[in-house]
Amino acid sequence: MLRILASAVSVASKAGSEVRRILETGKLDVVDKGIQDFQTEADRTAQRLIVASLTRAFPKCTIVGEENLDVDEEADRKLLSTSFDEEVLAKVLPKEYEEVREEDITIWVDPLDGTAEFVKGHLDHVTVLIGFSLRGKAVAGVVHQPFYNYTSGLQNLTGRTMWGLVGFGCFGVSPKPMPDGKLIVTTTASHNNKDIDESIAALKPDEVLRVGGAGHKVLLVIEGSAHAYVFASSGSKRWDTCAPEALLKSLGGQLTDITGKEIEYSHRLDGNYQNYMGIIASANRDLHSRIIRDIPQDVVDRLANANNDGLRSKI
Ligand code: AMP
Ligand code: MG
Ligand code: MG
Repeated sequence: MLRILASAVSVASKAGSEVRRILETGKLDVVDKGIQDFQTEADRTAQRLIVASLTRAFPKCTIVGEENLDVDEEADRKLLSTSFDEEVLAKVLPKEYEEVREEDITIWVDPLDGTAEFVKGHLDHVTVLIGFSLRGKAVAGVVHQPFYNYTSGLQNLTGRTMWGLVGFGCFGVSPKPMPDGKLIVTTTASHNNKDIDESIAALKPDEVLRVGGAGHKVLLVIEGSAHAYVFASSGSKRWDTCAPEALLKSLGGQLTDITGKEIEYSHRLDGNYQNYMGIIASANRDLHSRIIRDIPQDVVDRLANANNDGLRSKI
């Protein structure tokens, strides 16, 4: 587990440099995957780099990446990262993690989260996400922000890398508590709909921050800019939530669906990794329960029914 994390921290940071390099070339070569669902050259290159590097170092892990890419061994070889972060390697993990076998780990890769905002130039919304699940639960995550502090210029950026392991700790980011007595909610900027609006209205927030990226929104919760991330909609996938969930949980927070149920991170043969029942993330358990309680039942029912209809139409 430690070696996988040390590798993923180095790999995420190298993927971040590729994302910055590609932005500088100005050739994003955007492909439409659906409504407000894009893929750029940066998404493709970052995924190649991450998947090729982790597959080579840890061939027995199951790796699920967001992008469907053609095999190109030559491109993969050029992008390989073979380093292990020294600071991570120096840690001593709890015994339960020392005994984890490579084949028990599933790795969830979102090479570039927040692509809709990336193409619009909202660079601080972009993260590289590498999440790790064990027996269906998110246990570790690496979150890299390639454009951290970019407002002072794109030159000399190194980004920042944060990682967390549930039951052990979180590194690279300092959590800040949120004030009581008001409620600031963060939600999607580019995938809004009626159910999201209805659930947010029911929470009566004092402020709503509409920004991109699941990784970015969880960072807002961790760093004390929002009390909760509320997304009462399908559309996000396991690779959007695994790394952010693990980071938040390693700090005592929670990320669940809108009914409070944990997201199941098992590898599926049908390749369907939608989080049909949405996302609620918050830094503290009491607040989390309160938000789950206040989500309108009709919104929960609509999401559940849409999920059932979706499953029926597939059969
Ligand atoms: P957002 O908060 O809109 O940035 O969404 C967080 C993550 O979930 C991003 O990776 C989005 O691409 C993904 N996502 C959310 N809703 C949808 C949707 N309706 N279609 C495709 N991707 C979505
Ligand atoms: Mg994403
Ligand atoms: Mg992505």
